[in-house]
Amino acid sequence: MLNTKRWSVDLKKDLSTYYPQIKQAALLLQQNEVVAFPTETVYGLGANAKETEAVKKIYEAKGRPSDNPLIVHIAEVQQLHEFAQIENEKVKTLMDAFWPGALTLVLPCKPGILSKQVTAGLSTVGVRMPDHPVALELIRAAGLPIAAPSANRSGKPSPTLADHVASDLDGRIAGIVDGGSTGIGVESTVVSCIDEIPVILRPGGITKEALEEVVGTVNVDPGLTKKDEAPVSPGMKYTHYAPEAQMYMFHGSDEEMQCHIQKYQAEGLKVGVLTTEEKKEWFAADVVFSCGRREKPETVAANLYRVLRQFDETDVDLIISETFSEQGVGSAIMNRLQKAAGGRNLSSLK
Ligand code: AMP
Ligand code: MG
Repeated sequence: MLNTKRWSVDLKKDLSTYYPQIKQAALLLQQNEVVAFPTETVYGLGANAKETEAVKKIYEAKGRPSDNPLIVHIAEVQQLHEFAQIENEKVKTLMDAFWPGALTLVLPCKPGILSKQVTAGLSTVGVRMPDHPVALELIRAAGLPIAAPSANRSGKPSPTLADHVASDLDGRIAGIVDGGSTGIGVESTVVSCIDEIPVILRPGGITKEALEEVVGTVNVDPGLTKKDEAPVSPGMKYTHYAPEAQMYMFHGSDEEMQCHIQKYQAEGLKVGVLTTEEKKEWFAADVVFSCGRREKPETVAANLYRVLRQFDETDVDLIISETFSEQGVGSAIMNRLQKAAGGRNLSSLK
């Protein structure tokens, strides 16, 4: 058991107040320890991307399958040239438009710099510059490229609060920098820039529509939607984000969803419902949680993982979730919900 250190940063105050704490966290990273930190998407679990000893600790702490590569986080574009190649103009356009931000670019990796564990044996590497003052300052202070997946135990919902990180990883990691609640709430969009036309490997905080506005056509990996095609991004094949109770995605009218709730209750099961502000008074179930406003999908993204974790504090036997439009950030929301539900869907009883 490690004694997990915790530092709190109040973002309303001048960041320089916290430079000493951030330096302590950076020192741990330089000593090949793992430290969790806030980003604008979810909390990340960081380690020195150049050292296998450090990177292995991420996989161990998370219980993450070793064939699932890690995203490397940087604070300045310059850092990228040491370990990745930029071979096409669209990469520069995307970096200029969205960095710092919730966009991970998969680029050809220069051999011999990063630990092989970071790329899980691939010849490419995912790189991102997070848009969060604490993350940027920590990476700068460490002076290293920082490999960082989400700071949860593998399979659980990603952490959007430092308490989520602590509940999964306390005693397993060297430290947690608490910067309050993360903003976007779903992970970055992963885009492969290996071919001429960029391909979305994982939908996320930056929408397809926003990407297409700056680089024209962007494709979506068919493995994300077609059951018989393997996803290009190794992480997308795993069940993820799952609450403890089995979850089902409901497709149909509210009345039909209520029929399902009653049917399960008649079998003696406790039913949880994942809904929105607009409908939270409408459903009658054992537990009803709202994850935001349907008409403002960003609010749903921001609250989604927190609410999925909240179900674990109840005694529901199953959860029925509403479905959302796949427009904009809705495609990331639906991707995460489908993974949390392990592909279990319910439709009309008729
Ligand atoms: P996480 O670190 O938990 O946010 O997950 C990172 C996601 O990015 C996973 O789905 C990985 O499989 C994916 N990823 C990271 N690096 C690469 C890469 N070089 N090629 C394809 N997918 C990647
Ligand atoms: Mg993750």
